[in-house]
Amino acid sequence: MQFCQKCGRLLVKKRTRFVCDKCGQAAKGKVKIRTSEKMAEKTKIGVLKDKESNVWPVTSATCPKCGNKTAYFWSAMARAQDEAETRFFRCTKCKNTWRESH
Ligand SMILES: [Zn+2]
Ligand SMILES: [Zn+2]
Repeated sequence: MQFCQKCGRLLVKKRTRFVCDKCGQAAKGKVKIRTSEKMAEKTKIGVLKDKESNVWPVTSATCPKCGNKTAYFWSAMARAQDEAETRFFRCTKCKNTWRESH
């Protein structure tokens, strides 16, 4: 909390600093809370990116090669409108990759 150095009023938090409502006097220095918020945001995004590139979603699918019941999956865009979206699976155990059969 900061107060106006001219008239003693409680300062209002603006975009980057505290400003007096009455006389327009601005507090010296920038709002400290703002800086730490920005830093927290950056850390969050970094963590998310790492996860996305390393982990695929896992679903229950039976591997035709070893019979394992769990597989990573992703889908490929259909090239034509009447073509269904193709899903691919990769066995979590033997790394065998196969297409979803309709
Ligand atoms: Zn003031
Ligand atoms: Zn397998």
